[in-house]
Amino acid sequence: MAAENQDTIEDSIICYICHRVYDDPRILPCSHTYCRKCLEETALANKDQFECPLHEGFTVSKNTIESLPINRIIRHLINIYGSRQSPIECSNCHSAVSEYRCDKCENETFCSKCYQTVHKPPVMQKHQQMSANETALKVNFCTSHRDEKVKYWCLTCSQLLCTDCILLEHKAHQYNLIPKMVQELELKITNNLNNIQMLVDEKLNQAIECINEYGNIADSYRKRIQDTMSCLRQAIDEHEQDLLNQILIVENEQKNQMEEYKLRWKYEPENVQMHKAMLDMLLLTKNYAILLNGSQEFEDYVTRTNDVLKQTSIPIASYYELIELDQLEAIKKYIFHCGRYVKTNNCLLVRSALKQHSTQEHSSDSTVPDIHVALVELTSNEYPNVMYLPKQQRQKRLCRK
Ligand SMILES: [Zn+2]
Ligand SMILES: [Zn+2]
Ligand SMILES: [Zn+2]
Ligand SMILES: [Zn+2]
Ligand SMILES: [Zn+2]
Ligand SMILES: [Zn+2]
Repeated sequence: MAAENQDTIEDSIICYICHRVYDDPRILPCSHTYCRKCLEETALANKDQFECPLHEGFTVSKNTIESLPINRIIRHLINIYGSRQSPIECSNCHSAVSEYRCDKCENETFCSKCYQTVHKPPVMQKHQQMSANETALKVNFCTSHRDEKVKYWCLTCSQLLCTDCILLEHKAHQYNLIPKMVQELELKITNNLNNIQMLVDEKLNQAIECINEYGNIADSYRKRIQDTMSCLRQAIDEHEQDLLNQILIVENEQKNQMEEYKLRWKYEPENVQMHKAMLDMLLLTKNYAILLNGSQEFEDYVTRTNDVLKQTSIPIASYYELIELDQLEAIKKYIFHCGRYVKTNNCLLVRSALKQHSTQEHSSDSTVPDIHVALVELTSNEYPNVMYLPKQQRQKRLCRK
C-alpha cells in the first residue's frame, strides 16, 4: 500500500468531532460521517439540533440520529486497518510481539524465535516467510464441501464456489475464477471512481471559472459605468465653460450698445444748464430786449431737442435664451433610473466562456447555478421602464450586489 493511500485511510477513519477512530460511524444526508455517540452528544449540548460541522446550513436533529445509515465502508476500513496496526502477540509463546507470519499457518503470527522453532521440520520449511503485518492471501474453504478451497464466484447465486460445486449444483450457472472476478471488479470500481473524480474536478473547475468570470463581468460593468459617467462629467464641464463664455460675449455686446446710447445724451445736460443759466442772467440783468429778440433761439433749442428725444428710444438688447437649462434637470432622473439587477437562470455570458474551455458533452448538460447579472442601461435612449425609486430604496437595491 502506498504511503499516500495509507494517510488517506488514516484520515478517513478519524471522526471530525472527537478526533478518534470512528465508533459506530453514521452517514448524514449531507454525506459527512460522525460517530453515533458524537452526534448524540452534540445534539444534546445544542437543544437537540445542530449544524453539520463540515456543512454550513445542514441541520441535524436528535430524533433522526438513530435511523441514520451505518457507514459500512468506514467500518470495514477500521476492521482491516485496526488489525494491521495493533501489535499482535506471538501465537506460539504468547509473550513476545509477532514479527513474522507465513503463507500456510493460517491466522498465526510468530516472534522470530518461535518462527524458527515452529518451522524447523522439513515439511514446514516449505512455508513462505513474510513480515507479520504483510497480509497473507486469505484462503477460504467451501461451505458445502469443507475440504475444498473456493476458486470461483457464481454470478447466478452471488456465492463462492469450489471445483466440486461447479461440477454439481452450479453446473449450469454463470461463474468465473475468483482472481478474474476480482480483477474485473477492481477495474470497474477504479474506472467508476476515476470517472466520479473527473466529473467532480470538472464541477469544481467550472465553479472556479464562474467565479473568475463573475469578476470579469463585474469589472466590465464597472468600466462601462465609469466611462459613461466620466464622459458625461466631461461634457457637462466643457459645456458649462462654453455657456459662461457666451454669456460674457452677450453681456459685453449689450453694455457696449448701451454705452453708445449713453454717449449720445452725455453732453445734453450741459446744454440744458447753459440755456437755463443764460435765461437766469438775462432776467437778473433785466436785459428783456435781448431775451425777447433771442426767444426764437430758445424755442428752436426746445423744439430740436424734443424732436430728437421723441425719435431716439433706448436700444433693444438681445437676451440669452436658457429655457433648455431647466430641462437638464431631467438628466438627473435618467441617471438615477439607470441600472437594475436582473435574475437569470440562463447565464449566456458565463456559459459561452465555459464552452470555450470545455468541449466535452456532459459539461453542457450540467446546470450552472442561478446568478444575478447587473444590466446597466447607460446607453439606452429610451426612458428605462422601471419605477422611480426614492434615494433610500435605490441604495438598498444597489446593496444587493
Ligand atoms: Zn466521534
Ligand atoms: Zn455534512
Ligand atoms: Zn513466540
Ligand atoms: Zn508456517
Ligand atoms: Zn463446494
Ligand atoms: Zn450458482
